[in-house]
Amino acid sequence: MKKRILITGAAGFLGSHLCDRFIKEGYHVIAMDNLITGDLQNIEHLFPLENFEFHHHDVSKFVHVAGALDYILHFASPASPIDYLKIPIQTLKVGSLGIHNLLGLAKAKNARVLIASTSEIYGDPTVHPQVESYWGNVNPVGPRGVYDEAKRFQEAMTMAYHTFHGLETRIVRIFNTYGPRMRLNDGRVLPAFIGQAIRGEDITIFGDGSQTRAFCYVDDLVEGIYRLLLSDYASPVNIGNPDEITIKAFAEEIIALTGSNQKVVYHDLPVDDPKQRQPDISLARELLGWEPKVSRKEGLERTYAYFKTLTAEQLNKKDH
Ligand code: NAD
Ligand code: UDP
Repeated sequence: MKKRILITGAAGFLGSHLCDRFIKEGYHVIAMDNLITGDLQNIEHLFPLENFEFHHHDVSKFVHVAGALDYILHFASPASPIDYLKIPIQTLKVGSLGIHNLLGLAKAKNARVLIASTSEIYGDPTVHPQVESYWGNVNPVGPRGVYDEAKRFQEAMTMAYHTFHGLETRIVRIFNTYGPRMRLNDGRVLPAFIGQAIRGEDITIFGDGSQTRAFCYVDDLVEGIYRLLLSDYASPVNIGNPDEITIKAFAEEIIALTGSNQKVVYHDLPVDDPKQRQPDISLARELLGWEPKVSRKEGLERTYAYFKTLTAEQLNKKDH
């Protein structure tokens, strides 16, 4: 019998890559999405497959899946700052009502659940690099609170089902990940800079560009998630690429990559924008034998190659 896996947020950037991976591993994939920030184009190549089914559904409402389920990956959630600022209530709901529905489903089906948590649960961190034992520095009532607190609640709810119901659960804390199928206008820094370079617009750095991030290529992330799901470890695990860079230096890399020679302009730093971020991945190394393999140079080249295949209409689409 094929293993059956439910993937929520399946039409999004990460969800669609996870669908590809589990199809490749021989699973039956049940993909679920309400398309609020996702795009069916990301998974349409899977539609003809016998081992793939798609359900257009909002997981913040009761979730029903017929038949057995072995695994659930909960990836549904707006993920970019401009998305979750635009739809704050839906963001809070999918991280609270959504996870409650999915944990209930998992309990009924005796399935193992893996949830997509985030480096944002560390907020604007006072510990650097961020280790899993750090509790974070989050402003609950700031603009990013809707995302950060939803994700923190999601972790708490997942641990409660593990502790009180003995449910098998996994928590991945994902650090900034990039690659093909990101929405060019989702506002995240990489698609923003590449989109601006392709369209010949100024590159917009927020703040003075001294804030740092560490970018992980999507294939590396998917491998880490795959290994974590099959491990027996229920506490949170960071997955990301520790190669940290300032946003200013990152802009210079994108300008060199695209040969665009764009002008850089400086805008105000968004409220509560974390000043530094870098994953400590010692735990993932030890537990999963995992570490990222794709350098930023290689990953950026692959991602740029993807964006160059987009049509003028896709490039100029300002919003979802
Ligand atoms: P994305 O916006 O591309 O994908 C999210 C998907 O979830 C979309 O297809 C959207 O339509 C769907 N969705 C949202 N609310 C839903 C609901 N109520 N019911 C059903 N579907 C819903 O974003 P992404 O980058 O692929 O992120 C996926 C997950 O990974 C999110 O949970 C995000 O918080 C987490 N994450 C991503 C990153 C990253 O760098 N990409 C970092 C940390 C955490
Ligand atoms: N950023 C920027 N210009 C942009 C978009 C983002 O300088 O056009 C900055 C943003 O302020 C943040 C960093 O890039 O410091 C990463 O932003 P992103 O939204 O990609 O991710 P997050 O802040 O959630 O890590």
